[in-house]
Amino acid sequence: MKIGFIGLGNMGAPMAHNLLKAGHAVNVFDLNARAVQILVDAGAEAAGSPKAAVTDVECVITMLPAAAHVRSVLTADDGVLAGIGKGVTIIDSSTIDPASVKALAELAQQRGNTFVDAPVSGGTGGAAAGSLTFMVGASAAVYEQVKPVLLAMGKNVVYCGETGTGQVAKICNNLVLGITMAGVAEAMALGAALGIDPNLLGRIINTSTGRCWSSDTCNPFPGVIETAPASRDYAGGFGTDLMLKDLGLATDAAKFAHQPVYLGSLAQQLYQTMSSKGAGRLDFSAVIKLYRPDREA
Ligand code: NAD
Repeated sequence: MKIGFIGLGNMGAPMAHNLLKAGHAVNVFDLNARAVQILVDAGAEAAGSPKAAVTDVECVITMLPAAAHVRSVLTADDGVLAGIGKGVTIIDSSTIDPASVKALAELAQQRGNTFVDAPVSGGTGGAAAGSLTFMVGASAAVYEQVKPVLLAMGKNVVYCGETGTGQVAKICNNLVLGITMAGVAEAMALGAALGIDPNLLGRIINTSTGRCWSSDTCNPFPGVIETAPASRDYAGGFGTDLMLKDLGLATDAAKFAHQPVYLGSLAQQLYQTMSSKGAGRLDFSAVIKLYRPDREA
């Protein structure tokens, strides 16, 4: 299949590589010329604009930072909707708000195209390994149509329901994640302050009812989990600013649904404080630093 791929960042670049590996022809566009060149060296074709990237393609994939970028890549004069043929499906795998998805889906429909939300979980490791989980919002028929393409980049492709529900699933998962990480950080910092060995505390939590991904895989206390970002100065992993963005999406969506998000709002403020302190690029588990300001973690 001929695919137009726009947004070759930490996630998009390895995803586009996996499409090439699966035998697809891929046109690529990114504002970052170096990111484009790396994909061209791997067999992709460079395009000078989103419009040029989608000429004659059967499918478009966007993997961009936030809703504003997706909107501009789609609707600009040299954007996707200006260059795409009728009946082509646009799959957006960025994490954005469900309301933007609905507005963009309507615009695409007016031009005879279909817009699908298919955000991912699995991080940069999952993107490189081709083991991402896609949460897809689309009609059942369109879901069946896009599934084979997504399986070239992921292991699990989950049907969530109508357009926008993929983002609902993604936002709710990351709401849990942001809250559990802050909770584990608080407990680990308290345990250390009260004098228990953090490694022992980590082992106990991980075989008790407090166990979760934030405790057993990405524990925020350095040294508790050797492979966690906390054990390498919070480098790599899932950035604090990305978590902050996702909690903002959750609290915005909650306003729209007249639904309280008490813990989500509080967690958002914790990551906001980290970001304001210049720690936005550190893994979000670095939030434990708020509880241990005078220590290494
Ligand atoms: P990134 O910042 O590494 O990459 C974004 C890319 O988009 C960059 O290469 C940038 O140059 C490009 N870009 C920005 N504006 C553009 C435009 N107008 N035209 C063309 N290219 C443009 O971000 P990422 O980590 O790859 O994340 C992408 C999306 O995936 C985000 O919505 C993020 O929330 C989501 N996500 C990220 C992770 C993760 O672990 N990094 C995990 C799951 C979901």
